[in-house]
Amino acid sequence: MSNAVRIEPDLQFIKDLQAVGGESLKKCYQCATCSVACPLSPADAPYPRKEMVWAQWGLKDKLVNDIDIWLCHNCGTCSDLCPRGAKPGDLLSALRNMAYRNLVTPTVIGKWMSDSKYLPILVAIPAALWLFVWFLTTGLTIPQATSSSARSSPVTSPLTPS
Ligand code: SF4
Ligand code: SF4
Repeated sequence: MSNAVRIEPDLQFIKDLQAVGGESLKKCYQCATCSVACPLSPADAPYPRKEMVWAQWGLKDKLVNDIDIWLCHNCGTCSDLCPRGAKPGDLLSALRNMAYRNLVTPTVIGKWMSDSKYLPILVAIPAALWLFVWFLTTGLTIPQATSSSARSSPVTSPLTPS
């Protein structure tokens, strides 16, 4: 009896990955140099070679749920040593980027979090909320120091020679 598994590549996912930093993923020829070179790769489930082949096959579900992509600290050693210039470190960065987009709800927040050009929006939202709460609680006035807090301030007196 055959144990063949039918793979259905998500071609759009491959294109999306290539658009956000994984453009060299097709150069990988599975030599595994990257997994050996990575200082953090565990022996029982080494990365990033397996992520390279999953990305080439367009296995989106495996990749967006792959915990190993979050172990990478983007040192670039694997990319430096890859004989094909496939940039596996860049692929893992691109996968983290894609994971933001797929896991964050609402999805527009994921889009903002995955691109630095949206950083001003991400800063503006909590700033606007903070201003709103400030407006509701104080009418945007700056609280004055109370007389009791003024009395409790330490008063220093000049030292007198004995
Ligand atoms: S990414 Fe490079 S080093 Fe890693 S398996 Fe592919 S060709 Fe080899
Ligand atoms: S970039 Fe990530 S996967 Fe590559 S060697 Fe560094 S930690 Fe390992």
